[in-house]
Amino acid sequence: MRCEPVGAGVGRTGVGGADRRQRHEEWMRRALEVAVAGAGSIAAADTPVPAADDIPVGAVLLGPDGAELATGRNERELTGDPTAHAEVLALRRAAGRLGRWRLDGCTLVVTLEPCTMCAGALVLARISTVVFGAWEPKTGAAGSLWDVLRDRRLNHRPEVYGGVLETETAAVLRAFFR
Ligand SMILES: [Zn+2]
Repeated sequence: MRCEPVGAGVGRTGVGGADRRQRHEEWMRRALEVAVAGAGSIAAADTPVPAADDIPVGAVLLGPDGAELATGRNERELTGDPTAHAEVLALRRAAGRLGRWRLDGCTLVVTLEPCTMCAGALVLARISTVVFGAWEPKTGAAGSLWDVLRDRRLNHRPEVYGGVLETETAAVLRAFFR
């Protein structure tokens, strides 16, 4: 499992690294809960009942203190909106809640590697940390196909941790596509 920051040059040795990994895994479990939350679930107040044909991707946005600010689940089919990805919805809700577009100090946790649109939106929101689960070799823009989050030409580069609970997050997607 690849839990270290992808190319960020920060090791995961020491007590801090272990604590951080544990925290990331806890948040990822919450994002998984949001991804698969069904009818009657209290898992995600932000998100309505998922459409059966929406790919189960979940996101959680945490404030600088680690408190949950918003959640989002992929609702592209449900809403017929091509931009209704989990990350974008979580960003919009958190920004609405805080009353500002700038989300520095915040952490976005998502079950699948962000696409180019979402990676771009995360940079624009000045998100400080991005934690994702499964890698997406076909469209991923956080290290797989592109690396928008750590492009040195951009003036903001979040810290990125990929492959957190990789087995569990990939299993949810595999079950959907089977
Ligand atoms: Zn996306």
